Amino acid sequence: MIVELITTGSELLLGQIVNTNAAWMAQKLNEIGFDVCYQTTVGDNRARMEETVRHALTRANIIITSGGLGPTRGDITKEVCADVFGRALSLNEECAERLKENFRRREKEMTENNLRQAMIPEGAKILVNHAGTAPGIVLEEGDKVIINLPGPPHEMKDMFTRSVVPYLAEKFGLDAVIISRVLDTYGIGESQLETKIQDLILAQKNPTLALLCRPTGNIIRITAKAKTRSEAESLIAPVESEIRSRVSDFIYAVDDEPMEEIVGKLLKEKRLTIAAAESCTGGLFTSRLTDVAGASEYVKGSIVSYTLAVKEKALGVKKSTLDEHGAVSEQAAREMAEGARSAMSSDIAVAITGNAGPSPSEGKPIGLVYVAVAGERGTVCEKNILSGKRAQIKFSASQSAMNMVRRYLLGEI
Ligand code: ATP
Repeated sequence: MIVELITTGSELLLGQIVNTNAAWMAQKLNEIGFDVCYQTTVGDNRARMEETVRHALTRANIIITSGGLGPTRGDITKEVCADVFGRALSLNEECAERLKENFRRREKEMTENNLRQAMIPEGAKILVNHAGTAPGIVLEEGDKVIINLPGPPHEMKDMFTRSVVPYLAEKFGLDAVIISRVLDTYGIGESQLETKIQDLILAQKNPTLALLCRPTGNIIRITAKAKTRSEAESLIAPVESEIRSRVSDFIYAVDDEPMEEIVGKLLKEKRLTIAAAESCTGGLFTSRLTDVAGASEYVKGSIVSYTLAVKEKALGVKKSTLDEHGAVSEQAAREMAEGARSAMSSDIAVAITGNAGPSPSEGKPIGLVYVAVAGERGTVCEKNILSGKRAQIKFSASQSAMNMVRRYLLGEI
């Protein structure tokens, strides 16, 4: 089945918003075996939108639109698609009632134009919007289907998952599934990673292999297509274990599980607490750690020790260490970690000190970051040379620190 995605809205054409809806839908459709062969974007112009829909009908079986289901005059997607199939619109009482109820519940006044959202084309299937007000529409004509979804990503995703996937499965059957396994790595460069699995990349067929750079580290994506999910999974399994046998030291997660969740799980499992002394990351490490629900069970606290004075006073870093080696040094990082551990009585403590740029400090290069972890087994410190702009360096430093804590907890360092 050939699918064309039509994303509508002048904001997309002006580059004011990024077309995440198209990327998300394409990925989901591919996963369930539908071929997305075309993606079109058109503004809120009736003639151009009509031309786009008519053209799509000449080359695709299923057209899925997103955007333009709102209550204002500029929202024309539903009208245009109904017109193309020659269907008149009329007020649907059930939709109107649902809309009124929605406004009543939120204690908001409903204006007359809101009722436009309850105008439904003749013969349409209605997809209930559980995350907003505009209902989705399914129009069938011969072997062609047009599905209209709302533009706001959370509404589109909810409707797609709840209603569109079951609709497509029932109408067309799912004769193939495409699934991916992502192996998240940290601490290995893209070219080094490629070298280690080059023969597998060259020989790839089904599953296919892709290497991608992410701010969190490089990832290896293994994608297989098969008739069933379990068949696809069994195609992936041997390739995954072959990759693991070559680069297991660097794989910290599967399917993009965030590092902070992994570290959190380990701390919980081992019933250990953590504290931090952050300089160049300004609290980012602890902020990420506390993004995970239940972090209060293991996060003791954090000292953002930006100045030399705070490093000395709050963490007990020796003046002589700072004078002799500077704040961005292995010695300072070690003392910061040990100081944080004793100041906050935690089982382990991490310290991050470095230069995030944009100019060198203490005569040390931009991107030089020391991370130390102190715990019962002693203190370890690693030197990192990170690249990118200030925000990137801060993020990478926090990721590097998370990875060090992970390895420390696993007894790898
Ligand atoms: P509303 O009822 O909010 O008017 P709508 O169905 O008419 O919804 P649009 O007005 O086209 O949708 O878009 C609403 C908002 O949704 C946009 O301002 C934008 O923030 C987001 N949005 C729309 N289309 C996309 C897209 N393709 N990718 C990402 N975000 C999008």
